[in-house]
Amino acid sequence: MREDIVRAAQFIPADSAVVCLTGAGVSAESGVPTFRDSQTGLWSRFDAEELATPEGFKRDPGLVWRWYMWRLEQLEAASPNLGHHALAELARLCEGFLLVTQNVDDLHEQAGSVDVLHLHGSLFSFRCASCAAPHHLTAEQRGADLPPACGVCSELVRPDVVWFGESLPWDAVEEAATASHRCSVMLVVGTSGLVYPASQLPLVARQAGATVIDVNPEPGPISSIADVFLQGKSGEVLPALVRAVADRRASA
Ligand code: NAD
Ligand code: ZN
Repeated sequence: MREDIVRAAQFIPADSAVVCLTGAGVSAESGVPTFRDSQTGLWSRFDAEELATPEGFKRDPGLVWRWYMWRLEQLEAASPNLGHHALAELARLCEGFLLVTQNVDDLHEQAGSVDVLHLHGSLFSFRCASCAAPHHLTAEQRGADLPPACGVCSELVRPDVVWFGESLPWDAVEEAATASHRCSVMLVVGTSGLVYPASQLPLVARQAGATVIDVNPEPGPISSIADVFLQGKSGEVLPALVRAVADRRASA
């Protein structure tokens, strides 16, 4: 086994309080495109200003609607990969474990993770853009060229995700920040570390004395502050890491 994986496992004893922050990279091996990867990332092919801002939605709600319906179809066709499964297993091996994700998919939940904190909302829920009333989509509305109208106030319905320039759900941010401040290990997986404020959580943890472990095929701002950088795909690195954690327990 790789030496760096064994070293990372040593930082995760049974009584450790772990916060795991995941980003789009953890779902990449499930066939869900990331935002920023240069070849396959969504923002190399689409314009974030048009598709993921409140202004873009006002300008062309139909375009934004069809794009999200296309992404929803992609997510429905995806299954959790070995990385998602490994994180669900790691939670069972640790006394304290909080999974915080920037992802809008439900692949962590499908893999068996419970109490997942979604910082950027979910692509499976919808609400009114004006009065925020929740909206349940019909099959016909999913296939339509324009978003449906809210049953309460008749304004347009939008996906319940956080767009650029919008605030994150306050409760989730507060819970994630408090846990990051208190944890002994911050495990960061598949995030570019460029999206604020999620990108601050590893810094908060580090400043409070936690060990930071970063899993990513590419070095970036998080790997540069990490105690251990496990360079590689999460579907390969995480199962090996969890095996190493379990082996240490068995031999203790
Ligand atoms: P990002 O696109 O900015 O970065 C993706 C990161 O994943 C990069 O650092 C890349 O090197 C890494 N990566 C690529 N393949 C990987 C693999 N196999 N294993 C591990 N890491 C891999 O994504 P981000 O940092 O999560 O940016 C945040 C925004 O992206 C959020 O707003 C989030 O909502 C959104 N997003 C979510 C999804 C999803 O729900 N699956 C998909 C695309 C974008
Ligand atoms: Zn409404």
